[in-house]
Parts: sequence; C-alpha cells; structure tokens
Amino acid sequence: MTGLYEWNPVPHRLAIHCPMCRNLAEFEFATFRRIERREHIAYFKANKAFDYRQYIDGCGHKWHAALYYPGLHGPLQSGIHDLPDGYEPQFWAQSHYWRSSPGSGMGSVRCSACHFRSKHRLNWPDDLYFLMSYRGHNLWAYDRDSAMALRNFIDSETRSVHQDGYSRFLLHIPSVFKHHKAREPLVKALDKKLCSK
Ligand SMILES: [Zn+2]
Repeated sequence: MTGLYEWNPVPHRLAIHCPMCRNLAEFEFATFRRIERREHIAYFKANKAFDYRQYIDGCGHKWHAALYYPGLHGPLQSGIHDLPDGYEPQFWAQSHYWRSSPGSGMGSVRCSACHFRSKHRLNWPDDLYFLMSYRGHNLWAYDRDSAMALRNFIDSETRSVHQDGYSRFLLHIPSVFKHHKAREPLVKALDKKLCSK
C-alpha cells in the first residue's frame, strides 16, 4: 500500500492531519484544465480562484494550465459563472498524487476543529490521518468510512472484501496486515484513530 494508483476511481477527498492543529481535516484535490489559447491566460491569472501554471511536455514544449480548488471555492459549476467558452466544468479533470499529473498533489485543506482553510500540497503518505505502521509497512485508509471498512475487514474471520464501495480497496490489503498476529494491534490502532476527532 504505497500509492493512490491502487484506487479506482481515485477519491476526490482524503482525511489528513490538519497542518495547524493535527486534528482530522479534509483534503480535496484541485482540478485542472489546459489553457488552449494565449488570450485566456489573462483571465485565469486575474481570477483569484485559479492558479495559473506553466508546464513543459515531453518534447520540450511549454503549455499552460489553470488549477481550481473546489474545496475552497465550491464546485466549479456553482462557484464561477464567467468562464471563457470551452472551459465549462465538464472539461476539467481532477489532479492526482502522481508526479506526472498537472498540479500533482495540489488541493486544499479544511479543518472544522480550528477552521484552518488553505491550499495544500499533499505529502504522501505522511499527511494521512488514518495511517499506521506495522512491521515496517504502511497501512492507510483514505477517510473515516474506509477506515471503518478496513477495521471491520481486519477484525473479521472471513475477510470478505465485499463491503459496499470498498471491495477494490480491501482487495489490495497486503498479506502482512492479514496475518492473525496483526489483527489485535491493527484493530486497536484503528479504533484509537476512529474514536479521536
Ligand atoms: Zn485544525
């Protein structure tokens, strides 16, 4: 369990430690759109809801992109009403953790405990709230619900992966975490995190 690539689809949101107070905060990936025409660059530079970025493709050509933060400004369709033609919400894609993704790891964090809100670059896997180490391996869940599914899976005798919405996630749990000796410490660690706020 090392990367987000094992999830399909990749979640939009993750539970992370708040950078300010360390309580559970919500990280939400940014979305991005390639800027097709030079004259549109000024629009995205001028609007504070967007980050303007330049990238270089594999052939050395420069290209331009805009990043948007739904976690801070709401869904694009309800937050912004004067987008240039061709930049409607359906043409935007979610950023990922992957290095090759535009805006990789970029998103926003919101904490309901201390009300911190900010853009944030995800530090994988250290930022994750439901992250624990067992025998040198990292075990994680991406939010409270998946942590609960993971907890019940580890605790069960049958180890059935057929839990609503989490089959793919549970299918990828490495065998080191499924050893009978791992059950007690992992369930204990997950319970502790699930009980804290
Ligand atoms: Zn906080």
